[in-house]
Amino acid sequence: MMRKMTPLQTLGIVFCAIAVVWLTMQIAVFNTCLESKFIPANANYLCQKEQNYLLLRVHDLAKSEPTCTKLLKVLETNVNTLTDRPKIFVITPTFTRPVQKAELTRLSHTLLLVPNIHWIVIEDAAIKTDLVTNFLAKSQLKFTHLNVPTPHPMKMSQDDPSWLKPKGVLQRNAGLAWIRSHVSLQERGVVYFADDDNTYDLDIFEEMRYTHMVSVWPVGLVGGLMVERPLVKEGRVVGWNTVWKPDRPFPIDMAGFAVNVTLLLKHPEAGFSLSVPRGYQETRLLRDIVSVDQLEPKADNCTKVLVWHTRTEHPKLKQEWKLSIPSNVNIEV
Ligand code: UDP
Ligand code: MN
Repeated sequence: MMRKMTPLQTLGIVFCAIAVVWLTMQIAVFNTCLESKFIPANANYLCQKEQNYLLLRVHDLAKSEPTCTKLLKVLETNVNTLTDRPKIFVITPTFTRPVQKAELTRLSHTLLLVPNIHWIVIEDAAIKTDLVTNFLAKSQLKFTHLNVPTPHPMKMSQDDPSWLKPKGVLQRNAGLAWIRSHVSLQERGVVYFADDDNTYDLDIFEEMRYTHMVSVWPVGLVGGLMVERPLVKEGRVVGWNTVWKPDRPFPIDMAGFAVNVTLLLKHPEAGFSLSVPRGYQETRLLRDIVSVDQLEPKADNCTKVLVWHTRTEHPKLKQEWKLSIPSNVNIEV
């Protein structure tokens, strides 16, 4: 049954509809204008700024009105067909082990289906391996290949008694450092930390693409639950269903958020650290750049799972030890 709308809501929707049509026209006219030779050199930048500002205002308005959110999707589709969509910088730490090439193959095939993406792959190694170097060269993706080794197993913090190898911390920081020295403040884009063993629905990339500050969504198969997710009320994050260490300020997995690239450029200190307890890396980064009430819930107000924290089983290789010459001599696996 249709719900009855208040005059204010009707007005909001009418405004949204006008804004969508007007912005689309504006973008179309601007594109035609760009073809002409008589425009100032900074016109593109100025217009992008103006568009971003308008989009932001419409987003504000749309927060409380589902019909408006749908109209906004129409606008985003229009913008996508008419202009370059914001870029997604995917930061992936990776390390040498038997399943590495299989994991990278699977992830790269997902990323090949995502428009305007830049894959930053950081090896946990003192020198770049031939395997990853050759793999990326033939991947057909736009990529950057970096490396930084993780120090030996260490205590995660003063109050954490366990000795663990921190996973991907220095590698993600190296990815951020690369972005900070190669991406300009004018770039429209978003940064996502995609581990090499997770499973990604293509829709999650379009959800995160228009992130103003930090967007969040559910992650399947993590934290000892079927799904961990932000709890959303009237378009805002009001809590979490997390059971593991629920007192963390941002009790969320690395796969469950994306950050606007400009926000990261404006906070050069924001990053990960070797000296925080397990589970606090996400908080370590996010606490410096955003507050919980500013988070932008995606995936239909965090009601859909579009990424899974899958983990690959260690392969059984015990027959290998019976061989005098390993089975993979002269053949890359
Ligand atoms: N990783 C790494 N060095 C390591 C262990 C992991 O660079 O010694 C990478 C790994 O390839 C993955 C990310 O760090 O992209 C997170 O590691 P993992 O998937 O093992 O973490 P978990 O699934 O336990 O959260
Ligand atoms: Mn993992």
